[in-house]
Amino acid sequence: MDHNLTPCEFRQRRPLAGGGEEIVCLAAQSAQLAIVGQEEGNHLAAVCGSCPIPGAIAGNPAACLFLRPLRFIADPERAPAYFTCRWYYAIRSGEQPTDIRWCQGCRDWFPRPPLELIQGYEEENERIRRFMLTGDDGRARFRWATSEEVAPHAFTGWRRIRFVLQRWVMLLRLRWQQRQRRSTSGRSRSSDPSDLNA
Ligand code: SF4
Ligand code: SF4
Repeated sequence: MDHNLTPCEFRQRRPLAGGGEEIVCLAAQSAQLAIVGQEEGNHLAAVCGSCPIPGAIAGNPAACLFLRPLRFIADPERAPAYFTCRWYYAIRSGEQPTDIRWCQGCRDWFPRPPLELIQGYEEENERIRRFMLTGDDGRARFRWATSEEVAPHAFTGWRRIRFVLQRWVMLLRLRWQQRQRRSTSGRSRSSDPSDLNA
């Protein structure tokens, strides 16, 4: 392996089915960067050598537990990197941040532990990646109903009349119950012997 590369927590070795090991990038959907022993002529050096992720995270106190750096290496020449956040990725409809300056001063910041201690990291990265590519991460979210969806249940016509009548009936029933209670308590006071002595 090229030892001139900046160490990176996302660059990992994995066994290959047919024997041997591959080097993958966990920030890039576990894309294969090289086969161990055959690093020459592959794009490991090009992709990792131009990657801003390890430099931004290693030793940086602003790196946060919730940071989800992503690399898109389908085009190794360009291979953009984004520093997405597991809490805030969905509120950014445009491009995600390309550095971690926006983490400074964030009230949700938490110290970043070693990668292996973060649960469900790859699944989460996958969800964020899907959101970036399609605008949908498969999660149900609250949203206002559109007027077309509301129309079949619109509160008009006989629905409105029925609602008003129901409210009037309820109001009359309450008043009748109140009266009943008052007259009952009045009768019980007058039958109290202490009332006779008054
Ligand atoms: S592409 Fe970047 S994030 Fe991925 S292993 Fe290389 S240096 Fe690390
Ligand atoms: S510091 Fe805030 S914005 Fe940055 S990754 Fe952490 S929670 Fe997200």
